[in-house]
Amino acid sequence: MNELLSQLIELQAIDMEIDRIDQAIKAEQNGLDERITALAKREALINELQEKIVAQQKETRNLEGDMADRMDHVRDRQSKMMQVQTGREQTALLKEIEDAKKSAKENEEKVVALMESIEQLTARVAEEKNLLKGEKELVAEETEKVRVSIEEINKGKRDKDQRRGEQAAKIKSGTLRKYDTLRQRRNGLAVVNVVDGVCQGCFMAIPPQLFNQLLRGDQLFECPTCQRMIFYQRPAEDKN
Ligand SMILES: [Zn+2]
Repeated sequence: MNELLSQLIELQAIDMEIDRIDQAIKAEQNGLDERITALAKREALINELQEKIVAQQKETRNLEGDMADRMDHVRDRQSKMMQVQTGREQTALLKEIEDAKKSAKENEEKVVALMESIEQLTARVAEEKNLLKGEKELVAEETEKVRVSIEEINKGKRDKDQRRGEQAAKIKSGTLRKYDTLRQRRNGLAVVNVVDGVCQGCFMAIPPQLFNQLLRGDQLFECPTCQRMIFYQRPAEDKN
């Protein structure tokens, strides 16, 4: 195999290892980010529940104030009863008293329902806060674990980066630029083998004439479809 080709293949092998390392770092970070997002969601839920409680407490106070006003009105009408003369006036007052009592009772039922709801919401908030506390502790532990893990991964990466630099230095800058551009544009694969006349980068057949040229020597050609650098490596059984 020609030297340039084997150097490019070696470089690509190192680059793919570095890619795997970067992906491993990303995966660690993503897992942690998901947990942090879950924390923020629970915090938002707790705030929402607390706002609901405050609103229902306010409604309860309003209803209680309204109820007191109505009972004052009932007492006032009851004292008026002594002063009225006609049956018609009495009937009107009695109706007023009954209406006021009725709406006071309705208010009371609403207040009871609100108090029950506030009690349930308060219990839910306590439960959510407890879960949040546990999750926060876990996330703190996880953050530390991820930090250590990424640090460990990065140690291995420094070694690979150095090897990458050494390997890249062996290759002409024009070829290296082409290789780097191809890797960026072609999903990390710049140099590919051709098997049975098919480019292993884009899996398109290459023209027979080009394949014959490839078969003749260890030359570096370009795939007409994906422009990757292609080479031909004899299958393992042919080597014997
Ligand atoms: Zn191709």
